[in-house]
Amino acid sequence: MSLSAQPTASLFIGGQPVEGQGAEVPVRYALTGEVIATLREASLDQVAQACAVAKAAQAEWAAMAPVARGRILGRAAAIILERNDELARLETLDTGKPIQETLVADWPSGAAALEYFAGLAATLTGQMIPLGADWAYTRREPLGVCAGIGAWNYPSQIACWKAAPALVMGNTMVFKPSEETPLGVLKLAEIFIAAGMPPGVFNVVQGRGDVGAALATDPHVAKVSLTGSVPTGRRVYAAAAEGMRHVTMELGGKSPLIVFDDANLEDAVSAAILANFYSSGQICSNGTRVFVQEGIKENFLARLAERVKAVRMGDPLDPETNHGPVINMAQAEKIRAAIRAGREAGARLVCGGEGEGAFIPPTVFADATDDMAIATDEIFGPVMTALSFVDENEVIARANGTGFGLAAGVFTQDLTRAHRVVAALEAGTCWINTYNLTPVEMPFGGVKLSGLGRENSAAAIEHYSQIKSVYVGMGGVDAPY
Ligand code: NDP
Repeated sequence: MSLSAQPTASLFIGGQPVEGQGAEVPVRYALTGEVIATLREASLDQVAQACAVAKAAQAEWAAMAPVARGRILGRAAAIILERNDELARLETLDTGKPIQETLVADWPSGAAALEYFAGLAATLTGQMIPLGADWAYTRREPLGVCAGIGAWNYPSQIACWKAAPALVMGNTMVFKPSEETPLGVLKLAEIFIAAGMPPGVFNVVQGRGDVGAALATDPHVAKVSLTGSVPTGRRVYAAAAEGMRHVTMELGGKSPLIVFDDANLEDAVSAAILANFYSSGQICSNGTRVFVQEGIKENFLARLAERVKAVRMGDPLDPETNHGPVINMAQAEKIRAAIRAGREAGARLVCGGEGEGAFIPPTVFADATDDMAIATDEIFGPVMTALSFVDENEVIARANGTGFGLAAGVFTQDLTRAHRVVAALEAGTCWINTYNLTPVEMPFGGVKLSGLGRENSAAAIEHYSQIKSVYVGMGGVDAPY
């Protein structure tokens, strides 16, 4: 079967596919390195044009009844779910993630976001504030044009998670996916048009960091929502500050997963697997520092090493494959360097290792110390670092001993301890006796260097809207002279 995934054109502006005028961007299938599409970046003029088109479309879109906007998002969700098989295959080609994951996780969670915010449309209201004879009210208004910039691990989900709250509020959007994974979001743009969205409401530009930087500083852009690494986040946040633009920053992490000795061991091992190896470890919220209480440490590691033997690495399009390649060879080499550094620092390799080509097997280090690079740096690959601990206060202090604060997990049967520990953890998203579940109903985002703003849930609306206060004078006006 041909793996060609060439789109009609590289960009989508004003309701139309438009060819980019910038440099070529080859899109490769991570398994083989085969070029499956060749796109062109947007020129800086095209970025400006996309933002101008989004600006021109915004007033009319915002003037529609919210339920009418919601209905369009709902129709888009239905189209996505009808076409899920085809879209999942494209996502696998774009990312290299196993089809058994992309069928259930990527577009379906994007559709869930569209459905959720479609449903919320009718509830987006202001407040009435009685002031005696006078009164005031608030209007929740859109920000204007929002720029979305995505990472390569969940390209279509990220686009939907940003577009759904932004668009339902009456904003318009210009989205730039990672140059590594440019294909899925072009489908989303087409699906929005098929669902009845007016042209210009959702636009796509392609390109590397300089295109992202031009987007983040375009004079028409009122808000920048980035999913990416902390260094990129710092740059984009600083660039946005110049124009006093709003930001949402969904950045990296080195999250703790704490397993107390009373935990259900089998469930804790399952969670550690999901928290480190799903999507070949390319998940921002992964629990890559697994703190295991001293008494169960060796049992935990033995069971983990046993379970990991069932991994099936191979062609991501094979439905039996449950562990695919990482996004590209450069990323694989970075992960290998981190694994070598872990060995050289004296950590014990329990299973896995450097792998071959773009494949890195599930890799577990034990006997690591908190200051080793494998315990401090985000690797963004399937590498778990197990650390042992003795008591609760100690583990809380060590779990918080990082600049990151995206997520955290606690495994214990002790109800009060679970809630006490979670309350003390410096993380935006926590799980008790599970890990990495991010339903659209629940706010998602980080604290500290992991970012600001929240995606998903009604909380996301606050980050795509602003409040206008209106004082209504009901009587005469008293002036001193
Ligand atoms: P990067 O930070 O390298 O890139 C993110 C996006 O920003 C890409 O589209 C990139 O373009 C773009 N970009 C790069 N430089 C600039 C700039 N100066 N101005 C504007 N845009 C720019 O992240 P990765 O794609 O490597 O993704 C991995 C990172 O993302 C990890 O740190 C991971 O933890 C984080 N992440 C966070 C999530 C969260 O929700 N908190 C979820 C998923 C990932 P291009 O790639 O085309 O150069």
